[in-house]
Amino acid sequence: MRTLHKHYIGGEWVEASAFKLHDVTNPATGQKSGEMVLGTEADVDRAVAAAAKAFETFQFSSREDRLEMLENILTEYKKRLDDLAEAVTLEMGAPKSLAQKAHVPAGIGHLSEAIKALKSYEFFEDRGPTHIVKEPIGVVGMITPWNWPINQISCKVAPAIATGCTMVLKPSEVAPYSAQIFTEIMHAAGVPAGIYNLVYGEGQVVGEALSGHENIDMMSVTGSVRMGAAVQANGAKTIKRVVQELGGKSANIVLDDANLEEVVSRDTVAVMRNTGQTCTALTRMLVPHSRMDEAAAIAAQAASTVVPGDPTKDETTMGPIAHGEQFKKVGEMIQTGIGEGARVVAGGAGFPDGCPEGGYYVKPTVFADVKPEMAIAREEIFGPVLSIIGYEDEDDAVRIANDSVFGLSGAVQSKDHARAQRIAARMRTGMVYINGAAGDLSAPFGGYKQSGNGREWGDHAFADFLEVKSILGHNQGIG
Ligand code: NAD
Repeated sequence: MRTLHKHYIGGEWVEASAFKLHDVTNPATGQKSGEMVLGTEADVDRAVAAAAKAFETFQFSSREDRLEMLENILTEYKKRLDDLAEAVTLEMGAPKSLAQKAHVPAGIGHLSEAIKALKSYEFFEDRGPTHIVKEPIGVVGMITPWNWPINQISCKVAPAIATGCTMVLKPSEVAPYSAQIFTEIMHAAGVPAGIYNLVYGEGQVVGEALSGHENIDMMSVTGSVRMGAAVQANGAKTIKRVVQELGGKSANIVLDDANLEEVVSRDTVAVMRNTGQTCTALTRMLVPHSRMDEAAAIAAQAASTVVPGDPTKDETTMGPIAHGEQFKKVGEMIQTGIGEGARVVAGGAGFPDGCPEGGYYVKPTVFADVKPEMAIAREEIFGPVLSIIGYEDEDDAVRIANDSVFGLSGAVQSKDHARAQRIAARMRTGMVYINGAAGDLSAPFGGYKQSGNGREWGDHAFADFLEVKSILGHNQGIG
């Protein structure tokens, strides 16, 4: 049993203002794995005061000081890789290998990219007599979800440190264990008191206290559209900058000249990765009407290779859904798809055979003959469910892809590279992958429309954490 009974404020683990506890559940068993204290407005006040105090000096820190701090954090992070992976598996159910090879290395990636970017980032420019300088925005409130917990924490904390901001993090109440270890890392790295603070708690209490706080200058949040809208509305009272990374329903346009076997099997398995709980997952696969049956058969075969089960077992390639409420929602969405008349070609409703009872397991599911107006083509399911949609021609494919309230990611598959580039240019999304391109942690990450408004990762992340000041007449008499 893990016990998270203290917040981290002003450089130390401190007693919470009220001792109200929340059970943390292991999604692999449905059993309690630990408990976490629930923060209050008073805890938030205390953490914000510590962050504001630290900002008085940290805002003037040198690039070299911040580089050294990030290097120290990276060194300590690398000492805790096994602990972090174990925590991620326990809190949100990622299979061991995925936790070790993807979740935890993401933190190394974001810290390393921030270091690389900080080495050459231009914090000022001169235009004749005017000096334009980029300064840290101030105290940042951070709210993170449970689906890639350590990735999301590190991709916010790294640029905040790099730009000289101080922060208060509220991690997901579903997945607080990796946040605790991350905080131990920050402490071991010798990050001075108050620069980084952690308050455990619920969105409705701690999240709202942060977003409404007059001494918080910016909110950086990742989660649902509902949450992003709530934070923006609450932050409006103090004209906060609210940077959001929200949901997605990304389209994968498979053009008529693509190698169907290769592309459909690769991208079906990719949707099931992390049990479909990835905001950028390409959950709408668009294929020519004439090739629907072929694509459905390939996808069904690919889905059958995914092994759901206990995430601590080596043979498991897909763990449970991370929490009970989400488990229920995914089950309901599968039922909705069946009710709407989509054709189940793999998985479907019900508990997968051989999975541990009590855990939140679902079948890797593929729907074919999905119509663009169906709920399973429009709503984010956030589970291992692929919807294959037919299209008439290239223009129709682009129209269907862009007909979404979301605009996070997308993909194009074609043997004709120039054709794929033309389609990518027409997609209204923050990211597009051409022909299974590898991820790039230095490329800006974020969405259009209701997928949010921020850009995380690498040097682009810095912009969100910086204010811009024009000092007119600064350079008069120089030169
Ligand atoms: P969620 O919005 O329920 O919770 C996310 C976080 O917000 C949690 O820490 C929660 O406590 C907090 N929160 C909830 N209500 C709040 C409120 N009113 N005020 C302040 N904070 C509040 O989302 P979730 O279920 O944890 O995560 C899944 C969602 O996150 C999906 O929609 C997914 O697409 C999205 N997501 C987006 C990205 C991205 O970068 N675009 C990455 C991962 C997840």
